[in-house]
Amino acid sequence: MPPNSSAPPPRQPAALWAYDQLLDELVAANRILLHHQIVDSFGHVSARHPDRPDRFLMSGRKAPSLVERADIREFGLDGELAVPDGTPSFLERYIHSAIYTARPDVQSVVHSHSPGIIAFGVVPETPLRPICHTCGFLGGGAPVFEIRDELGPASNLMITNQTLGLALAKKLGSASYVLMRGHGSTAVGRNLPESVYNAIYAETNARIQTTAMTMGPVTFLSPEEAAATSGGGPIVVERTWNHWKSEIAS
Ligand SMILES: [Zn+2]
Repeated sequence: MPPNSSAPPPRQPAALWAYDQLLDELVAANRILLHHQIVDSFGHVSARHPDRPDRFLMSGRKAPSLVERADIREFGLDGELAVPDGTPSFLERYIHSAIYTARPDVQSVVHSHSPGIIAFGVVPETPLRPICHTCGFLGGGAPVFEIRDELGPASNLMITNQTLGLALAKKLGSASYVLMRGHGSTAVGRNLPESVYNAIYAETNARIQTTAMTMGPVTFLSPEEAAATSGGGPIVVERTWNHWKSEIAS
């Protein structure tokens, strides 16, 4: 829910990295997501500005394989460039701006069209549910955003303004992951590694769940097991992040 104007400034978790290092880590995040086939020509990742909660950092409109440090721009929570420079921005940047507006706890957002999860957004009878201990962040199951509720049956399914972004953020609620019917998904985290982790492991969960459902009735994590295994904390985040960075180093 968007904060009202009289609300105190949003509080954010302690920043993992200072601004200068965060630029390099954002470039790494693009490569990591590409390496794990979460993004391809499309998809984007952002992080909230460590010193200014009313801004976030994201590349200009480029394929993840081509993003360099100099491509990172600052955006306001309205989704517009903080300092307009004439460079093109992602059409779906409002996914990020709206979620940062609605969720002061969120420090990073990944939007992608990774293929394994698409099926779970279009079959209402089969929700994406946590199936293993690395995917407890899926909680009781991922919510599904239906853009027809906002735009009717003839849209291009994309989040192209702040109003649509806020509707997506409302569907996300307090969750870590939201499916977007016929389109893709959005993962959030309390820091950059966590949002990347959630994006990668939601796709892993989808692949395992798809296989398991062909074998018979599936035993999913209970809500208590999901809670007990979610939020792996800094050790898991650091270990996975360092591992992922080593994979893209060569
Ligand atoms: Zn998209």
